[in-house]
Amino acid sequence: MDIELDETQRMVQKAARDYADRVIRPQAADIDKHERFPKEILKGLAELGLMAVNVPEELGGAGAGTVAYALAMQEVAAACASTAVTMAVTNMVGEVIARFGTDEQKQHHCPRLASGEHVAGAFALSEPEAGSDPGGMRTTARKDGDDWVLDGEKQWITSGAHAGVFVVWARTSPASERPGTRGISCFLVPGGAKGLRVGKHEDKMGLRGSNTVPLVFEGCRVPASALLGELDGGFKIAMMALDGGRIGISSQAIGIARAALAESVVYAKDRKQFDKPIADFQGIQWKLANMKTDLDAAHLLSLRAAWMKERGLPFSKEASMAKVFATEAAWRICNQAVQIHGGYGYTREFAAERHLRDVRVTMIYEGTSEVQRIVIARSVLG
Ligand SMILES: Cc1cc2nc3c(=O)[nH]c(=O)nc-3n(C[C@H](O)[C@H](O)[C@H](O)COP(=O)(O)OP(=O)(O)OC[C@H]3O[C@@H](n4cnc5c(N)ncnc54)[C@H](O)[C@@H]3O)c2cc1C
Repeated sequence: MDIELDETQRMVQKAARDYADRVIRPQAADIDKHERFPKEILKGLAELGLMAVNVPEELGGAGAGTVAYALAMQEVAAACASTAVTMAVTNMVGEVIARFGTDEQKQHHCPRLASGEHVAGAFALSEPEAGSDPGGMRTTARKDGDDWVLDGEKQWITSGAHAGVFVVWARTSPASERPGTRGISCFLVPGGAKGLRVGKHEDKMGLRGSNTVPLVFEGCRVPASALLGELDGGFKIAMMALDGGRIGISSQAIGIARAALAESVVYAKDRKQFDKPIADFQGIQWKLANMKTDLDAAHLLSLRAAWMKERGLPFSKEASMAKVFATEAAWRICNQAVQIHGGYGYTREFAAERHLRDVRVTMIYEGTSEVQRIVIARSVLG
């Protein structure tokens, strides 16, 4: 694995860092406090090519690869985790369409996702009764003439109220005939489609600037050309997308944790107790040492998975290892950051409490820590 970044990767990292420092970070507390969906910021990210980092240039993307994407995600997440998750899902949707779409689907949606004409993309897999086990989904798509008609409910859909396009999974063969993960297909549904109702925004612990909604499909009619990939072959698309998505979420967690550590260092040098900066106490130094070690280990695992994906190597286990380690390490780091800030860390005066709230969900979405361990154990056991 190359630890040295190439010129493109450095450029993407710098563009994301500059924009995060200049535009995103100053707004992050306000976005969180007022649950403000960061539309204007997303437009700026699109102008920098960061809404489709790994989508080929001929489809309007930056074509910069997975490592560059992971680095950009870290920079944005270090400034605002809500913005980062919106960016992560949009990038994932662009990549899925670029990889599995017909020419027409690719030409229609990818440039719109990349340019910001679609404010965001949405990934609609989870349902009220089907989270870790998407094979239990109940949403159906039935053929009616040349069209498909979708009925059912989706749950927890990031950017669902703003998305220009939804990637939606639905059962196309009855569970009695093709149970579990077989008989599921994937569809592209445009935002605002007739028969697609967006439910009430979730009142979440963190990521309060990201939009999370249930969706209801009631006789939602899409043309035959909306089918993405093969009929009854949708589950494979979901799993491949999530493998890549897990690199994005590990990067998001690393970015949040990096900010928490940097702020802890500043605070520890500044805050005096017993007539000296708390950074002089070994009890605080050991915390900082553990935080930095966790952070770098997470970064290396995440870069390894990104590097393998970029080279077309199998990377499913590595993506799960990166996600489970990075998200749990980031949780430890953010928790210690609150501790180092003492009572002030428990207030909105410092970002430490926001980081802790924001980072918690990274151990849940795109496959919980338990699900990642199932994937890793399956591979270890052979
Ligand atoms: C803020 C947010 C945004 C999200 N965005 C999206 C999105 O854009 N699109 C989308 O499709 N989904 C999205 N999700 C859904 C997310 O992926 C699911 O919440 C997640 O997959 C877990 O599903 P669940 O919530 O139904 O929990 P469950 O599957 O009910 O799990 C409950 C608990 O049981 C454990 N568990 C389940 N099965 C096993 C097992 N076999 N062995 C051991 N433990 C097990 C889980 O790990 C968990 O701890 C989002 C969720 C949140 C909170």
